[in-house]
Amino acid sequence: EREELLKLREKPDLTRDGKRVEIYANIGNMDDLNSVLYYGAAGIGLLRSEFQYLGRENYPRENELFHAYKKIAETMGDRLAVIRTADLGADKQAAYLNIPDETNPIMGNRGIRLCLDRKKMFKAQLRAIFRASAYGNLAIMFPMISSEEEMDEIEAMIEEVTNGLDERGIPYKNIRTGIMIETPAAVMISRELARRVDFLSLGTNDLSQYTLAMDRQNPLLRKKYNDHHPAVLRMIKMVIDAGHAENKRVCICGELAADTALTEEFLKMGVDCLSVVPACILPVRRALRQVDLSDMRR
Ligand code: PEP
Ligand code: MG
Repeated sequence: EREELLKLREKPDLTRDGKRVEIYANIGNMDDLNSVLYYGAAGIGLLRSEFQYLGRENYPRENELFHAYKKIAETMGDRLAVIRTADLGADKQAAYLNIPDETNPIMGNRGIRLCLDRKKMFKAQLRAIFRASAYGNLAIMFPMISSEEEMDEIEAMIEEVTNGLDERGIPYKNIRTGIMIETPAAVMISRELARRVDFLSLGTNDLSQYTLAMDRQNPLLRKKYNDHHPAVLRMIKMVIDAGHAENKRVCICGELAADTALTEEFLKMGVDCLSVVPACILPVRRALRQVDLSDMRR
């Protein structure tokens, strides 16, 4: 069984009828880098960059971030590595961030919201990512987006950062950008958001908790928490259609992407890629390779 699975390491991400739907890896530390290559993932679909910010006494320096991203870019070579900017706050706290206690941290100052009022911290990360882009195939992705105004601010900061690099003659690539769709607001404006970036990536963990209005960590709700809820699945379909209407790729990077009971449904919805924890790459590849989309096309 395990050996059968391991044979899939070198097999392409193709459905029975030959459609390519790439499987990427979600990682949250440098140790997982090797398993991305070991299991033959298309690349990194989600780097949870928080690991460099947590469990420490002060903000990480730009150079420390840069060296990690450079290592990732070099290790992945031609393979794409999507770096998600820091998604701090809520369940990811560090004392030096000085986030005041919030009654409702899940709905609080987290993700991009926090970054947009810690501009120095955010710019250091943007600079580190752009600097590292010269060494491989990086993309950048923003978490917890809920409005176009946030994208206005991000675009202005990217311009400021890249102008600074230009002035100092530091090389970088014009890397692709993406937005995580993980709030119901982002779903409803996904067409507008898709126009502003190169790809969308569905964060189904947060999207389902915000859609169901249920904390995904609350043990009292475990039995009531249905992440196959038709509301969630319809939202996923809406986002895929919105992205495609703007000729943009749409991926799923929440845990739901690894749920092989849904692989066929996601493929039928037209998803372009799935990003899953390294241990799920081969099981998802096996499920994907069994799907036949030709009936549907007819
Ligand atoms: C998600 O919300 O689905 C997601 C991928 O982000 P995280 O799990 O890191 O919040
Ligand atoms: Mg999330």
